[in-house]
Amino acid sequence: MFKKILIANRGEIALRIQRACREMGVKSVVVYSEADRDAKYVKLADEAVCIGPAASAQSYLNMPAIISTAEVTDAEAIHPGYGFLSENADFAERVEQSGFTFIGPTPESIRIMGDKVSAKQAMIKSGVPCVPGSEGALPDDPKEIVKIGRAVGYPVIIKAAGGGGGRGMRVVHTEAALLHAVQTTKAEAGAAFGNPAVYMEKFLENPRHIEIQVLADEHKNAVWLGERDCSMQRRHQKIIEEAPAPGIPRRVIERIGERCAAACKKIGYRGAGTFEFLYENGEFYFIEMNTRVQVEHPVTELVTGVDIVQMQIRVAAGEKLPFTQRQIQMRGHALECRVNAEDPYKFTPSPGRITTWHAPGGPGVRVDSHAYTNYFVPPNYDSMIGKIITHGDTRDQALARMRIALSETVVEGILTNIPLHRELMADAKFIEGGTSIHYLEGWMAQHKR
Ligand code: ADP
Repeated sequence: MFKKILIANRGEIALRIQRACREMGVKSVVVYSEADRDAKYVKLADEAVCIGPAASAQSYLNMPAIISTAEVTDAEAIHPGYGFLSENADFAERVEQSGFTFIGPTPESIRIMGDKVSAKQAMIKSGVPCVPGSEGALPDDPKEIVKIGRAVGYPVIIKAAGGGGGRGMRVVHTEAALLHAVQTTKAEAGAAFGNPAVYMEKFLENPRHIEIQVLADEHKNAVWLGERDCSMQRRHQKIIEEAPAPGIPRRVIERIGERCAAACKKIGYRGAGTFEFLYENGEFYFIEMNTRVQVEHPVTELVTGVDIVQMQIRVAAGEKLPFTQRQIQMRGHALECRVNAEDPYKFTPSPGRITTWHAPGGPGVRVDSHAYTNYFVPPNYDSMIGKIITHGDTRDQALARMRIALSETVVEGILTNIPLHRELMADAKFIEGGTSIHYLEGWMAQHKR
């Protein structure tokens, strides 16, 4: 096992990784920007090094600064968390070339999965079902594009091969609008992602977002840890997640889970990863793979009892997975509400000083957050300041515990989306379970204020 790990991230995930290290008796080094000087995990760290000003480009995305900090602090491995450099194949490569272990998959795996066209091709080869659409990137010839559109059938969605974060997508309802949409998306993709390649998919009208968590080691072992339902989204971004997905028969989930684990073996995947699917009318359609730990990993940890962050570290150190698929047991139900520093109904960010922070507690309640009373939420980064996660024997119990947890939570000084979570936990359709990715949009329109 490593003696020391450098954490190349910030916020709640930096604290989460630090806690995993502590439990394993591994020392951790935290890098931070000037804006994060007063963060809790910086104060708690075995070692902390300031690597630059608030702007991410000069700190959390600054590869030379991060790698040289690993050198001077004698760290052996680098954990990238999520966001920032976590899915940057060049970074993973530079980390390894500098003699450190990258806690994640190989640069090749990251590269294949980072391009959605090559990711889909790899999945088709591995027997994972994908959304019907163009075979690879769209050609230049307008006649060919129109032909593909007819074959796929309207509505279609044009997506950037290099897209991410819900950007670089355009829905097209008629053939008349197709060519213009392709041109615009291409131009935007070139400017935003440095890759103008786009592809076409059938636009699914009412799907749910269901994802499969996997873990794989270097010794050809791969398991799947159940699914998560992340359909409650605002602007293509998740705000509530749960495990298991309500109302989907176990054998249907098992079939797709087994395929994901088999695909990991086939592509030589290592570490934690997530296969994201749209689920409609009983069918799964792969959309992308995330080659890192995800924000919503705690719901899976609570139902399986597996510490995903520790597993990432163990397999990066070359250890074998300590369990087989048959030893993985699901127990109960878990829910997660992402707490964002934002206007609950307009979603505009609300950074600033938290004058009161009171976190909930009690049976089956977990809070992953770096916030505290007097903490200043910097305006420079993502607005998520923590996650409230509850577990119960049944979904109803997890829901009841979430309602109590939300009622106990006090955050003053800034706006948060907790009022929205309180309303959604009382919403009849959400309580019923199985709402689609468009549900929240419709709900917001109905509850205009
Ligand atoms: P990103 O990498 O930007 O997150 P994804 O491919 O994961 O992009 O898609 C993000 C979200 O966009 C999905 O969760 C879903 O809400 C919507 N979406 C993507 N592809 C389709 C599709 N073919 N049909 C309908 N909705 C889609």
